[in-house]
Amino acid sequence: MRYLVISDVHANLEAFDAVLAAAGTCDHVLALGDFVGYGADPNAVIDRVRSLAAVTCIRGNHDKVGSGLESTDGFNQLARRAIDWTSRQLTGDHREWLTALPEGPVVVTDLLEICHGAPFDEDAYIFDDLDATRALQGSSRPVCLFGHTHVPAAFALSRTDRVLRPLPGTRLDLSTNADTSFLVNCGAVGQPRDGDPRAAFGILDTADLSLTLVRVAYDVAKAQAKIVAAGLPEVLAHRLGVGR
Ligand code: ZN
Repeated sequence: MRYLVISDVHANLEAFDAVLAAAGTCDHVLALGDFVGYGADPNAVIDRVRSLAAVTCIRGNHDKVGSGLESTDGFNQLARRAIDWTSRQLTGDHREWLTALPEGPVVVTDLLEICHGAPFDEDAYIFDDLDATRALQGSSRPVCLFGHTHVPAAFALSRTDRVLRPLPGTRLDLSTNADTSFLVNCGAVGQPRDGDPRAAFGILDTADLSLTLVRVAYDVAKAQAKIVAAGLPEVLAHRLGVGR
C-alpha cells in the first residue's frame, strides 16, 4: 500500500495540486487537517480533497474555527483575520463537511495512526524532545503521523531503553525492530515554516516500510497574488515566499 501523507494545506490550491501531481499514483491519501485558513482557495481545496478516491481525513484547529465549531479566541490577530475571511467564503456544503471531520487521533491500520497536533491533544504542538516523548508514549500504534507545526520532523522511541532520537535524512526505515515507535511530521503542503518554501508531503510505502519526506516547487507567485487580490493580510503572501 502506497500512502500519500499531507497536512496543513491551508487553502493553497497551487501547492496542493503540485503535491498531487508529484506524488503520482497512490492507493490512499492521509490528510491530517488544516485544509483551510491563511490561503485564498478554501472551497477549491475542499473540492479537491473530496474528489480523491480513497482518503482518510481528520480536522485541524483552523477547520474547527473556520466551520464555526470553535471561536477565534485562541487565534492571533493574523490567523483571526484570515479565518474570518475564510468563514465568509465557505459554501454551506463545505462548512458542513469541515464540521463533520473527525477529531484525531484516528487509527488507520495496526501499523498507523494519524493526528493533527498530538495523540494526547489534537491542538497541542510537538516541537521538542519532551513533546515528542509524551506523544510517542501516548500513541497507540507503532507509527504516528502528525502535522500542525508546519515543520518536518521525525522521532523514534525504543520502548525498552526509552531513548528518544531524532531521525535525520528524508527516507526513514520504519522496519528497524518491533519495539521502536515512530512519530513523524511530513511538513506542510500549503504554508511551510522551515525556511524552505517548497510544498512538503510524505510517501509511506508499506511494501518496504519506508516513509519518504518529499518537497516540490509550486507556483508561489500565483498563490501570493490570489491572497493579495482576496484582501487577505499581505504578510500571508510574503511568508509563502520565504517558507516561514
Ligand atoms: Zn496549520
